[in-house]
Amino acid sequence: MSTGIKNGKHRAFNISKVILFFLFIAIPIISSSASGIKNEKNRVIVIDAGHGGKDPGALGSISREKDINLAIALKTGKYIQQNIKNVTVIYTRKDDSTVELRDRPKIANKANADLFISIHTNSTNSKKVMGAETWIMGIAKDQANLEVAMNENAVMLREDDYSTKYEGFDPKSSESYIMFSLTQKVFQEQSTDLASKIQTQFSKRVNRNDRDVKQAGFWVLYNTKMPSVLVETGFITNPSEEKYLNSKEGQDYLASSISLACKEYLNEIDSKSGISLINDQDHDQNQKSDTISKLNPDAGEIFFMVQISSSISKIEIKSGNFKGLKDVTEINMKNSFKYAAGNFKDFSAAVNYRKKIEAFYPDAFVIAVKDNKILPLQQALEQKKKTQKD
Ligand SMILES: [Zn+2]
Repeated sequence: MSTGIKNGKHRAFNISKVILFFLFIAIPIISSSASGIKNEKNRVIVIDAGHGGKDPGALGSISREKDINLAIALKTGKYIQQNIKNVTVIYTRKDDSTVELRDRPKIANKANADLFISIHTNSTNSKKVMGAETWIMGIAKDQANLEVAMNENAVMLREDDYSTKYEGFDPKSSESYIMFSLTQKVFQEQSTDLASKIQTQFSKRVNRNDRDVKQAGFWVLYNTKMPSVLVETGFITNPSEEKYLNSKEGQDYLASSISLACKEYLNEIDSKSGISLINDQDHDQNQKSDTISKLNPDAGEIFFMVQISSSISKIEIKSGNFKGLKDVTEINMKNSFKYAAGNFKDFSAAVNYRKKIEAFYPDAFVIAVKDNKILPLQQALEQKKKTQKD
């Protein structure tokens, strides 16, 4: 009798397991294949127009920072949606409303965003200073950098009960900034990468004075759980730059620059994990599959290599062309050739090999290959785990 009850319980448990499987695993798979999306990650980008409502931000002679920020933020979101596939844009404000400083990163965390971009306009005592700079979270290396963060953080002084809400943080005291030393460390490399792409777009495409990537303790970047940057698009205190920041053309150029930097950043991440390669193939039925020359005799088996370079023209495979490496393979892609070194059944062996050649190829990264195709690393590792268990 007791066994009967046990069995009944056991069956009920199994049925609920099956239902759970369909709710959480099968349905997302069905819906994603129905819409034709495979391996394509849906990205969320949060765009934060600095200041707003009762807080005007910096003041120029013909305009207020909050209005410039909002205009550029909305345009940036529009360009991102036009230029990047599978992206959702979330704004911290879409009009002239007041949003507390501490709520802005919370919006990004709640949305589980991939990127957080805060848009601001700079100001200083000198009318001569002009140019754009992009900030990441970190410890300010000098007083001038600290002051930019102090100015942006001072917004919280306008909020009621700010000292309780901001954990006793005093935006005007340099001692307070020590608390920022450890936050965002995990995302520092990615944030720097995005920030430098934004600066390159600003200077190369739009001809803005490049004031470089900098770091300081901004509350708005504090505790965000994703790569985050704060863009100072230009100086409202410089008369000609203020005009530019208020012009439709200037705003469009700055916004499209930020969107292109995001696109480039996300594309690089995709190609590192192999996602975009697989997608290209899905979109183009006529395209020949990406074949790897003379390799992988074991059909259906996953192995790992270290991609060292990619080129639009073919490079002859000889060690002299690859800094002395003798185990280089060519991967023939749609419009380019990728070159990868080593060939391992074990992921960690490939990781170790990458470390070994890091001095010669600092940008090298591990890729996964199965049946002569590059596949997303995450997927490969999961499959590998499964087959090892069986
Ligand atoms: Zn600002």
